[in-house]
Amino acid sequence: MKAFEKNIRKVEPYVPGEQPQQTVIKLNTNENPYPPAPGVARALKAMDPNRLRLYPDPTAGELVKTLADYYGVSEDQVFVGVGSDDVLAMCFLTFFCSEKPILFPDITYSFYKVWANLYRIPYECCPVDEHFRIVKEDYFRENGGIIFPNPNAPTGLYLELSEVEEIIARNQDVIVIIDEAYIDFAGRSALDLIEKYENLIVVQTFSKARSMAGMRIGYAISNPLLIRYLNDAKYSFNSYTMSQAAIACGVEAVKDKEYFEEGIRKIIKTRERAKKELEQLGFVCLDSQANFIFVTHPEYDMKVLYETLKSKAGIYVRYWGSERIEQYIRITVGTEEEMDALLGFLEGYK
Ligand SMILES: *Cc1c(COP(=O)(O)O)cnc(C)c1O
Repeated sequence: MKAFEKNIRKVEPYVPGEQPQQTVIKLNTNENPYPPAPGVARALKAMDPNRLRLYPDPTAGELVKTLADYYGVSEDQVFVGVGSDDVLAMCFLTFFCSEKPILFPDITYSFYKVWANLYRIPYECCPVDEHFRIVKEDYFRENGGIIFPNPNAPTGLYLELSEVEEIIARNQDVIVIIDEAYIDFAGRSALDLIEKYENLIVVQTFSKARSMAGMRIGYAISNPLLIRYLNDAKYSFNSYTMSQAAIACGVEAVKDKEYFEEGIRKIIKTRERAKKELEQLGFVCLDSQANFIFVTHPEYDMKVLYETLKSKAGIYVRYWGSERIEQYIRITVGTEEEMDALLGFLEGYK
């Protein structure tokens, strides 16, 4: 090892799902199979390249205002970033500065561990139970902060808001972050609790329900004090996070509520049909409330199935092979036709 290497920050990075560039059936990273709202295409067409000479609005004011109006909060309660990964990373940096460990589930979004290690934040994982459910009592102890997704990933299981509230209420000395990447496919959002608890931050994204993973937009909603702390960290790091295109397209996506809700209805319908048909083929599906299904099969090796789906059918799903989930794959809910192709292949499998 070279002498200078001891001064280099070494991290074990997050491994994103595969992004194949040829045409395949892509059910591996929970993207939306439908296009974004029509207004997004119009906004892109209307963009004047000459304006790209100029820096974007560092506050992304138009997008912040549109989100604030949509959710019925004030503009100083909204923080935006380059996908919720950026927002979450900023939250870890800003709010998790305790010597005590932060808490999150053992089976969850694998990026949490990566950020904790990157920022040298101590953490402990609370095992989900044998049905993969979050056990709320595990979070009723001293800690340096709490984060979990609701619905959880990659299980898709939704924790009732009353239980989420108990976790927030029992931890008012630390910040609790609820990562709601998939909430639009599920039940009530913790946004309903924002006015009641000063220690709560809700993070959401445009990548899933709003069909805009490629544009990279995420946001946090909280009270003005915590949003101010987040902005202080952001302006100490990179002032111009949101491109002009992201701001313009984001605004159009949020404005079209009808299109948004129709898209969600379609995906939930396909999800419930796919669950039923997978079960008829002997698969065991967790009761996902998200836009993906976490499944196993008592007779199949799921790693082999994952590889076969890719090589024989050109269908990409997600497989981790990590502890407790070696025999599970996660299938993103695609279009009806994509799910037909998947189910058709599975019918002839083995
Ligand atoms: C997809 C996802 C994110 C990140 O999404 P962005 O594309 O960065 O907005 C964050 N948390 C969970 C649980 C996710 O599944």
